[in-house]
Amino acid sequence: MNAAEIARDVSARRVSAAEVTAATLARVQAVDGDVGAYLTLLGEIARSSAARVDERIAAGEHLALAGVPIALKDNMCLEGARTTCASKILEHWIAPYTATAVARLLEAGAIPIGKANCDEFAMGSSCENSALGVTRNPYDLARVPGGSSGGSAAAVAAGEAAIGLGSDTGGSIREPAAFCNLVGFKPTYGRVSRYGLIAFASSLDQIGPLARSVEDAALAYDIMAGYDPMDATSLDRPVERTADSLRADLAGLRVGIVREFDTKALGERSDALYREAYRDLERLGAELVDVSLPTADYGLATYYLIAPAECSSNLARFDGVRYGLRVEGADVRAMYDNTRAAGFGPEVKRRILIGTHALSSGYYDAYYVRAQKARTLIARDFERAFAQCDLIACPAASCPAFVFAAKSDPYSMYLMDYYTIPMSLAGLPALSVPCGWTVPEGGNLPLPIGLQLCAPLFGEKLLLGAAAAYERATNHALAHPAQIGTVPA
Ligand code: GLN
Repeated sequence: MNAAEIARDVSARRVSAAEVTAATLARVQAVDGDVGAYLTLLGEIARSSAARVDERIAAGEHLALAGVPIALKDNMCLEGARTTCASKILEHWIAPYTATAVARLLEAGAIPIGKANCDEFAMGSSCENSALGVTRNPYDLARVPGGSSGGSAAAVAAGEAAIGLGSDTGGSIREPAAFCNLVGFKPTYGRVSRYGLIAFASSLDQIGPLARSVEDAALAYDIMAGYDPMDATSLDRPVERTADSLRADLAGLRVGIVREFDTKALGERSDALYREAYRDLERLGAELVDVSLPTADYGLATYYLIAPAECSSNLARFDGVRYGLRVEGADVRAMYDNTRAAGFGPEVKRRILIGTHALSSGYYDAYYVRAQKARTLIARDFERAFAQCDLIACPAASCPAFVFAAKSDPYSMYLMDYYTIPMSLAGLPALSVPCGWTVPEGGNLPLPIGLQLCAPLFGEKLLLGAAAAYERATNHALAHPAQIGTVPA
């Protein structure tokens, strides 16, 4: 069941939160050995949260997410729960407080089922950079679920949660959503509090939902969005509710198709699916307009300076003194070295090195400052494009889910985020919505692909509304795997 249906049924007392929770935990027992979505199961916390929700419902409270089982990416703090960032350095760290976005969902009646696997410190696009576990794509167990929020995506796709929380720095919600046949939504930067989200690149990180429908994503977003004094980048301006404004059609909307994002490069089948998706938008009443993002091509290079620079600064706090792992040494300097050498995986070390280099004196102007300038140019491209259109449509990822170890050099992995990074650099709200199935070369199971829609800053209502119209008209998301690792009926 979708989150909205569960909340309706629990609110109407047709089923209890305790029953939904027990059924979800049973599903996890049955399938998570294959899927590996969770690093930590929160059985006790889930059961006591459910009991509390049932009491509140019995007392007549209205809870928008009554009894909805959720998966939390393991870079989000939940008080008393192990919070690892899928890293050895935080393997045994227990969070002393709860992230604001998480607290808001729990207050609205959601039940935390578990902490979901991800790439270490959210750096990656496949979950393969996790130091603590392997997550498989529920549609084809030989393939990755995407990343970095891959555990949250796999949990929702496999029925081990109704909503997954992810974080998106350069595509980490949208790409796994595309790989797992889900709606994945990254709000405008500053809309959802980052308090309690362990920082990767603070000027880009944003929490958002992964869900089986646009309605569910909207429901979770409406609850999480809004000002939080605990996050200095949280925006103090009114939030428009989105869940009540899901549209039936796209009449009167201009949708920009990006000239530079030629889908032919994605292969015949994907190209055909994206063309069909654009035609579907038109059929729903949208006018397609040709727009240009001339500097979007610099997105990757820009991101891979800014994100590592911020990561090298953010991850300096993991030094064996206050948080997590400590490996002793002859003196304090040796202790830092030993701790960081043992605690961080290869990709995290690579990012710290790149970032520290880009920020070092002599290179700062050539790399970091230029990247910031390029970031401004990319944001201006979007402003110009949005003078001609209301929304932008393009692919969500460069390919469907790939087999394990297929992207063994870092650069080919970085290319996965070609289509999602420009929006992140510009701070824009964007989502991925299922847009069809393709059998990849060398594969034998059909795999989902995602259409990305992007709106101007604060355009959440329009964005989710339009995505709902597209979803309703096309229904690609309805094909769920009856059995894990099998073709959807
Ligand atoms: N895949 C990108 C990276 O590795 C984006 C990750 C993210 O959005 N957290 O940095």
